[in-house]
Amino acid sequence: MIPFVDLKPMEIELKFELNQAFMRVLDSSIYIRGNEDERFEQSFSKFVGTKYCVGCGNGLDALMISLRALGIGVGDEVIVPSNTYIATALAVSYVGAKPVFVEPDILTYNIDETKIENSITNKTKCIIPVHLYGRACNMESILKIAKKNNLYIIEDSAQAHGATYNGKRVGSFGDLSGFSFYPGKNLGALGDAGAIVSNNKDLIDICKALCDYGSDYKYHHIYKGYNSRLDEIQASFLSVKIGFMSKMTSERRRIARIYIENINNNRIILPYNELLKSKYNESIDDFVNNHVFHIFAIRCKNRDKLEKYLNSNGIMTNKHYPIPMHLQKCYADLGYKDGDLPIAEEISNTELSIPMFYGMSDEQINFIIDKINKYE
Ligand SMILES: *Cc1c(COP(=O)(O)O)cnc(C)c1O
Repeated sequence: MIPFVDLKPMEIELKFELNQAFMRVLDSSIYIRGNEDERFEQSFSKFVGTKYCVGCGNGLDALMISLRALGIGVGDEVIVPSNTYIATALAVSYVGAKPVFVEPDILTYNIDETKIENSITNKTKCIIPVHLYGRACNMESILKIAKKNNLYIIEDSAQAHGATYNGKRVGSFGDLSGFSFYPGKNLGALGDAGAIVSNNKDLIDICKALCDYGSDYKYHHIYKGYNSRLDEIQASFLSVKIGFMSKMTSERRRIARIYIENINNNRIILPYNELLKSKYNESIDDFVNNHVFHIFAIRCKNRDKLEKYLNSNGIMTNKHYPIPMHLQKCYADLGYKDGDLPIAEEISNTELSIPMFYGMSDEQINFIIDKINKYE
């Protein structure tokens, strides 16, 4: 059986250092707001290429607190892609604002920037581009639209640690950016964790206070804040794992390139293909070297049949995501119906994610390619 994700190979390589990190925190007897937190925040902002970083409890909080810091709330609208993880939309709902769902581009799976302006109203305050599956959004166009319409940008970078666009890493483009360190993310803690990054000191100071009960100084509460802090143990683990990121990312890119160059079944649409190549004038080198392949997504008309076939051959798969945001039960109140966002629906109906993790063996990679090529 080939699992969809296996964290073991990486954990085995890092076991000694993770143990050391844990012992260091245990010996310090400081578990919240100590040196580990600060140390990781510094190395993570350096990694992303922003001036500031504040750790928090998880990726959802990172987005929600970013929205709060920008003063977004009741009566406001926020543009989000319809094909994302629920957290992007929920963050908007949690601050009392309304998510407005925009279609993705069928080639990149990221928000289609040419459809953003049609969804802007006088209530729109912010765009949340999601760098889905580990590929950066077309930030140049999105930044232009935001500037022209006087909107904020919060990047949802939860799937894209280290992904690049025009030579800069994601998370460094928006007013604020939220990251998740959920264990299965490319940079994962051994539990829940997240972070907000920015180049704006004032905004980061607000986020920092919001994460810690809204206090700028002990027992002085200037905002109605949250309890959402990055704890010392997770920060110490993250400091170990951030040192592993270049190895982790090159391995994902190596596997992705092998998949792209060897899967040749015309029933399967690969994430890099002739259409994407010609529309974006993008070479395979550019595609692979900017992407971080949190998820390797293929598409197939008869997706459920392909899924059954692969699973019965011992290859575990996943769908990201089977129901687009506008058709989720929890958003029935927004009044969308089937067919309203056909491209998001098409992706939901045809996408299948195949195994992609550090430590996959060549035997496993070749077995997967062989089975997919024999699918009819
Ligand atoms: C994982 C994820 C989140 C939320 O992160 P958590 O740490 O699970 O709260 C937000 N957005 C996207 C796109 C994600 O994949």
